Amino acid sequence: MSRHIVCLTFDFDALSVFIAQGMTTPTPISRGEFGVVGAERIVALLKRHGIASTWFIPGHTLETYAEACRKVFDAGHEIGHHGWTHVSPAKLSREQEEAELERANESIRRLTGQYARGYRSPAWDLSAHTVDLLLKHGFLYDSSMMGHDYMPYRARQGDVIALAAPAIFGAETRLIEMPVSWTLDDYPHFEFARAGSAMLPGLRPASGVLENWYDDFDYMTRIMGWGVITYTCHPLVIGRGHRMLMLERLIEKLRARGAVFSTMEAAAREWAALRAA
Ligand SMILES: [Zn+2]
Repeated sequence: MSRHIVCLTFDFDALSVFIAQGMTTPTPISRGEFGVVGAERIVALLKRHGIASTWFIPGHTLETYAEACRKVFDAGHEIGHHGWTHVSPAKLSREQEEAELERANESIRRLTGQYARGYRSPAWDLSAHTVDLLLKHGFLYDSSMMGHDYMPYRARQGDVIALAAPAIFGAETRLIEMPVSWTLDDYPHFEFARAGSAMLPGLRPASGVLENWYDDFDYMTRIMGWGVITYTCHPLVIGRGHRMLMLERLIEKLRARGAVFSTMEAAAREWAALRAA
């Protein structure tokens, strides 16, 4: 029997993504504030469609917008770990990274009554210590890497990667990787950003992104008996009117094609149970 799972995931960065880049003047901060407007719209949309999703929320957002985060949790969504600040762990020492991990995990426990089972790195990059720290702190899964599109896998530890030598892969760990992709992330498609001479043009028509996102699901149904596809959205990006309509159309089209919507934790556990069977 075939089963095609969709994980809708929302990275509720709000102000933190701008602060982490040193953008603390009123307009970037207000761009982050719009995330709260978007979050409310998304929670209402998911309620209309009876969908449980996963929200990766930085500690900064949990403690700045406690009420908005409470509404997300009370609506039945999973709360995952997304750092305390929105700084990539690849830029931190092991001690700094662990302190961030613990601090944000306490913010999550205060909201949900338990520590996070899932982690998603800000900027989707991991340090050499991340997998080890996630295992130490009892995480079930990570969702930051890109080694597959439809199939979870075990995260490795201790790869030896050098410019002029074949890669030596480390051992698989218990940590389940729930892979992501930039093409299934709303941010690069839609968000216009400037930093010095670098520019992210974004602002693409939502209809084209909808077609790509639907086709990636459609392709999974053609080649996989069982699979998971993960979409990553940011309330401050997807919360704009034409994109909210796109998200609703996507949900309707996926459901008509047989999609099963799931939190990431449930999908990770289902994959682990299938592997064990
Ligand atoms: Zn983020």
